[in-house]
Amino acid sequence: MQQHIDSYDFTGKKAIVRVDFNVPLNENFEITDDTRIRRAIPTLKKVLAGGGSLIIMSHLGRPKKVDPKFSLKHIVAHVSECLGVPVQFAEDCQAADAQAAALKPGEALLLENLRFYAEEEGKPRGLAEDASDEEKAAAKKAVKASQKEFTKKLASYADCYINDAFGTAHRAHASTALIAEYFPNDKMFGYLMEGEIKAIDNVLKNAKRPFTAIIGGSKVSSKLAVLENLLPKVDNLIIGGGMGYTFIKAMGGKIGNSLHEDDLIPQALDIMARAKELGVNLSLSTETVVADDFSNEANHKTVPSNEIPEGWEGMDAGKASLENWKKIILGSKTILWNGPVGVFEMDTFAKGTLQIAEYLAEATANGAYTLVGGGDSVAAVTKMGYADKVSYVSTGGGAMLEAIEGKDLPGIAAIRGGQVSNNKSNS
Ligand code: AMP
Repeated sequence: MQQHIDSYDFTGKKAIVRVDFNVPLNENFEITDDTRIRRAIPTLKKVLAGGGSLIIMSHLGRPKKVDPKFSLKHIVAHVSECLGVPVQFAEDCQAADAQAAALKPGEALLLENLRFYAEEEGKPRGLAEDASDEEKAAAKKAVKASQKEFTKKLASYADCYINDAFGTAHRAHASTALIAEYFPNDKMFGYLMEGEIKAIDNVLKNAKRPFTAIIGGSKVSSKLAVLENLLPKVDNLIIGGGMGYTFIKAMGGKIGNSLHEDDLIPQALDIMARAKELGVNLSLSTETVVADDFSNEANHKTVPSNEIPEGWEGMDAGKASLENWKKIILGSKTILWNGPVGVFEMDTFAKGTLQIAEYLAEATANGAYTLVGGGDSVAAVTKMGYADKVSYVSTGGGAMLEAIEGKDLPGIAAIRGGQVSNNKSNS
């Protein structure tokens, strides 16, 4: 049975908490952006304030073996500072029994990077490139078998499990999902996860109408499932950025050298036909800022989006497109934004994306619910200083994208799931 962090009695309990401390580090192993740590602190503090102790676990980077470069020891001091208590460190996440057992209420222990073990992800490592299918299958079976022991060991350290790592909620890893089964009556979401789930529900389940989705970014192929899941739910669907040119080409427009995917033209036509059937207002860019090179210093001009000359490529939304979109956005009560509407990494072509961020801020101030989630639009609103002017900015790129695709995220399902047979063997 799922518990709730606000009503759970942590007195004298050890909580094992999966967080996403996968923070960027510079060459001196200093944290360059501690957002992910700060976002997990309220959950960690709640456990300590409630009389519990903490076993904190995370991954860092994508190590394929034990590798000091990816050690979480680099962040212990900063986590201690943010948490306000000295955090102990367990150099091997599979040999922390004594340290976990010795924890007193109010104390915290951080486990070494879970991904130093292949069992965390449950994927075999070190297979020869020419391994046969049988060898691959055997290696997979072996890691799955040892994954059970790995998970059980982590579970044995604690009395309850909290998942506060939305960034990995779309992965069925040992620490993000499998461990939950050892805590059938003592598993819960942390505050960050609760916030993300509520934000997803606010747009996918309880959207106030009109509901508008703005989907941008580079490729239709990576957003097809998103578009398909949103179509029956939205009133307006704005398609911008590089992916828009496949749609414009599908309608017979000339797109010059703009990014596009010819093999997805049938799907683009299908989405447009379905939008019409469902009465969804599908809005493409009408005017585009084009450049004669994919560079910030390129020559550029504004042209109709379906008349882009050869040798020029679409880089940003033009003024007329933005004016259309402004009307749609300001007329909406719920807005979901995923993906920039231009090459926002280049200042010359960041204006459209900046404008969208401004429209969202204005809509939010007028009472609309606005969620920015999944990938580069988050980076864009943060870079442009609009993160606190929208209702919610998601911390999970891939996880948010999969949620918007309508998928059940394993990290969420594992907490919500009912009683399971494998009882906790650790009390
Ligand atoms: P995604 O990860 O799919 O959300 O795509 C984000 C990327 O799309 C960013 O790196 C943008 O620079 C890129 N992008 C947006 N508009 C365009 C465009 N018109 N041409 C090429 N890339 C674009």
